[in-house]
Amino acid sequence: MSDDCIFCRIARGEIPSRKIYEDDLVFAFHDINPIAPVHFLVIPKVHVASMAELEDEHEAALGRAMVVAGKIAREQGATDGFRTIVNTGRVGRQEVYHLHIHVLGGPEILPAML
Ligand code: IMP
Repeated sequence: MSDDCIFCRIARGEIPSRKIYEDDLVFAFHDINPIAPVHFLVIPKVHVASMAELEDEHEAALGRAMVVAGKIAREQGATDGFRTIVNTGRVGRQEVYHLHIHVLGGPEILPAML
C-alpha cells in the first residue's frame, strides 16, 4: 500500500468509491467517469504502479483480478461480452499509477478500437 496513491486510499476506504466487490487480494469499483454503460475498475490491493512493474509475487492478485472482472461483468449486466483494458505508462495513456483493469460493457456493441 502507498500512502499517497489514490487507488490505495480507495481500497482502504479513505476515499469514497462506488464499491462493487472486495476480498483479501482485490478491490473493484465503478469508474468515476464511465465511458460505457458498464465501466468498472478492478485493482490488486497491493500497490503495483503498472503492468510494467509486475513481478512473480503478484500472480495470485492479478489472477484473482481477472476472475473477478469476468464475474462482476456478468453481474453488472455485461452478459453478451465486454472489453478489458490495462493502460500502461505514458505511451499507454495511463493516468493513475496503480495497476487497474478497466472493464467496459454494453448492452450495445462497443466502438471498434483495433
Ligand atoms: P487510466 O489510468 O488512464 O487507465 O485511467 C484511470 C481511470 O481512473 C479513469 O477512467 C478515471 O475516470 C478513473 N478514476 C480516477 N479517479 C477515480 C476515483 O476517485 N474513483 C473512480 N475512478 C477514478
